[in-house]
Amino acid sequence: MSTSPARLAPRPAILVLALLALWSCGHAQTTLDTIAPASMEDPMVTVRVFDAAGKLVGPLSVPRVERTEDEWKALLSPEQYRITRDSGTERAFCGTLLDNKLEGVYACVGCGLPLFSSDSKFKSGTGWPSFFQPIAEENVAKKVDSAYGMVRTEINCARCDGHLGHVFEDGPRPTGLRFCLNSESLAFTDSENLATLADPAASRANAVFAGGCFWCVEAVFEELEGVIEAVSGYAGGTAESANYEDVCSGRTGHAEAVQIVYDPQRISFEELLQVHFATHDPTTLNRQGNDAGPQYRSTIFCANEEERALTQAVIADLTEAGAFGDRKIVTTLEPLDVFYPAEMKHQNFVCQNPDQGYVRAVALPKVEKVRKQFADKLKQTSPLQQQ
Ligand SMILES: [Zn+2]
Repeated sequence: MSTSPARLAPRPAILVLALLALWSCGHAQTTLDTIAPASMEDPMVTVRVFDAAGKLVGPLSVPRVERTEDEWKALLSPEQYRITRDSGTERAFCGTLLDNKLEGVYACVGCGLPLFSSDSKFKSGTGWPSFFQPIAEENVAKKVDSAYGMVRTEINCARCDGHLGHVFEDGPRPTGLRFCLNSESLAFTDSENLATLADPAASRANAVFAGGCFWCVEAVFEELEGVIEAVSGYAGGTAESANYEDVCSGRTGHAEAVQIVYDPQRISFEELLQVHFATHDPTTLNRQGNDAGPQYRSTIFCANEEERALTQAVIADLTEAGAFGDRKIVTTLEPLDVFYPAEMKHQNFVCQNPDQGYVRAVALPKVEKVRKQFADKLKQTSPLQQQ
């Protein structure tokens, strides 16, 4: 695709002390060293969720929850909206969960992501529900909040970016942290009913394949029933150079790759492999058509031994059947270390740019191929026709 001219290069319980506590939301000029501004460019986020057995599983890569203001207003009460979407704060000692002593889990009111467990709840005397640690570090994002002339550490839901409250360094052992929450940001589920928090993501699996331009590979897999999401990105190299410009140099070790998030009950890893080998050329080393360089290599990034064995078996079957004549399959099997999602402008590229020259000449014929050869595995409506 580098040949396309249009190619685009993300304590106390009295009022006075309660007010002091509010101000203390400012005194703790935090030295929390884990603050990493969430990249809203990244369409995926890594979190832990509950499975159908009520067990916390992960970390898993899941799509961010993004809604319009109108959608949030329809979903949330006015007070929930004011606090979670407009960074509001409820009045001290007024929250419904402040005195809740039941055992269970506090989840995000906006998207249901589990955030805190009753195990870490403590009585801070500040007037807001307080916890000394999140249920999973990944699930609570931290960012610097400079509002009201104070520097505080704001905490947000990692999946929907809903405002939760703040975190301070004056909490109890073992963490010494105080996560100060708004009740309105939370939804409580008692420990008997954790299975009701089961997240569809808990039964999803990921596969990471490379086979040339990621725009094409992504568009092919988006067609398949059981594929929840296909994300364009980079695998095989390190974080520092996981960006389009550097990867294009062919010197970073990355391949343009696609993370396929799928439901193993509806489509198997082996079926995904069959589609991949039928829709790209696995016999050309470091090349797909006019796209040349190691960043365009054909690779299956294997997350475990099972994926590796299945891949080897599929390659052996194709070889035995002479699927590519005399040409040898040169697809590499590489261990999956980290998958780095690509910049937003590369996501859903074919869908967004159906008239672009490279898309018409190279990507859409591959989509046609999967539609023709795997007619029994397609979504009822092609994502390309939903636009
Ligand atoms: Zn959320």
